[in-house]
Amino acid sequence: MNLVLLGIGLAIGIAVTAVGLVVMFRNKKLYEGVIVALAGIAVVGGVMMIDAQLNYNKNNPSDGTSAPVGIESPTVNEDPSGTVTPPAEETPLPATAEPTEVPTPTEEPTATPTPTPEPGRYIEVHKSDWSLVKPDNWNGSTVYLTFDDGPSVVTGEILDALKKHNVKATFFVIGNEISANDEKYIKRAIEEGHTVGIHAYTHEYSVIYTSVDDYLTDFNRIDQLLKDKFNYKALVFRFPGGSSNETSKRYCKGIMTELTQLMPERGYSYFDWNVSPEDAMGTLEPDVIAERVLKGLSKNRTENVVLMHDFDQMSPSAQALDKIITNALADGFAFDRLTPETTPVRHTVAN
Ligand SMILES: [Zn+2]
Repeated sequence: MNLVLLGIGLAIGIAVTAVGLVVMFRNKKLYEGVIVALAGIAVVGGVMMIDAQLNYNKNNPSDGTSAPVGIESPTVNEDPSGTVTPPAEETPLPATAEPTEVPTPTEEPTATPTPTPEPGRYIEVHKSDWSLVKPDNWNGSTVYLTFDDGPSVVTGEILDALKKHNVKATFFVIGNEISANDEKYIKRAIEEGHTVGIHAYTHEYSVIYTSVDDYLTDFNRIDQLLKDKFNYKALVFRFPGGSSNETSKRYCKGIMTELTQLMPERGYSYFDWNVSPEDAMGTLEPDVIAERVLKGLSKNRTENVVLMHDFDQMSPSAQALDKIITNALADGFAFDRLTPETTPVRHTVAN
C-alpha cells in the first residue's frame, strides 16, 4: 500500500481515538468517549490489516506471472518434464591464425611390386645382362623364341638347337606335363640360362577359366612346383590361349580383363606373341615353319616374340630352329630370353 494512504489512514484512526479519549476524560462522558476511542482504534487496526494483506498479495502472486521479489530467476530453464535443457553449444569461431590445409592423399605407387628374390636359381637366371646374343650388324630388334606346352620328348632337341647357337629362349611349361622323366629338361633349361615361365598347371580352359580363384589355384600350383622341385622362381607367364582368348567367355565373362590387371600387380609379367608359324598341328615341314617365322619378324619393332610349341609331335619345330636362328642373326636380329624387364608384347583383351 502506498505509504501516504497508510499514513492518512493511521492519522485519522489516531485522531478519532484521541477525540474519543478527550470526550471520555474532559467531558466526563465515559460511554461516548469509549465508543469513539474504540472506533479510532478500529480504524488504525483496519488500516494496518489492509496494508498487511496488500503486502502479502504483492509477494505471493496467485497467477504465477510475477517473479517473487528478492528471488533470482533460475539460469537454467526447466521444461515441464523436468529434464534440463543444456545451453546451446558454442559455435566455434573459424581458425584464422593457422590455415587448415586438407592434406593431399599420397598417390599409391602404381609400379608393379618387385618380388623378393629367392635363393638359388632365381638370382642366377633372372640377371638380364648376359643372355643377349647380338650380331655385329644388329638392326635394333630382338627375337624372343618361346615354346609353349612343354616339357616333352622334343625339349632336348630344342635345347640342343639353341645350344648350338648359344641362343637363350623361354619355355612356358605346363605342370602336369612335368613327368619324372621330363624333369631333367626343366633342370637343363634352367642350367643353360633359359627362362622357365608358367603356362598353367593344367591347360584345361574348363578348369582354369571358371573363376579368378580357380585360375589362381592352378597358377599357384605350378608356381610352387617350380620352387619346390627346381628351386626356381618364375616371374613371367603366358595365359593358355593368350590374354586375347575368347574361349574363356564360355566359363567366366570378363575373367581375362580381371586377370590381366591382377597378375602384373602380383609381380608376374605376361607375354603374348606377335609372330606365329602356326606349328601346333605338328604337320608342317621344318622349312615351312622356318620361313613363316622369318617372314613374321620385323625390324620395325624392338620385340619379336615368336610362339612355337614343345610337345611330342613338335620335332619339325625343333628342326626348324637352326635355319631360323642362322638367318635371323644374318639379317641383324638379336636373340634373348624373356625376363620381367622385357617390354611386354600383349594382345588386346577380348573377354
Ligand atoms: Zn598352350
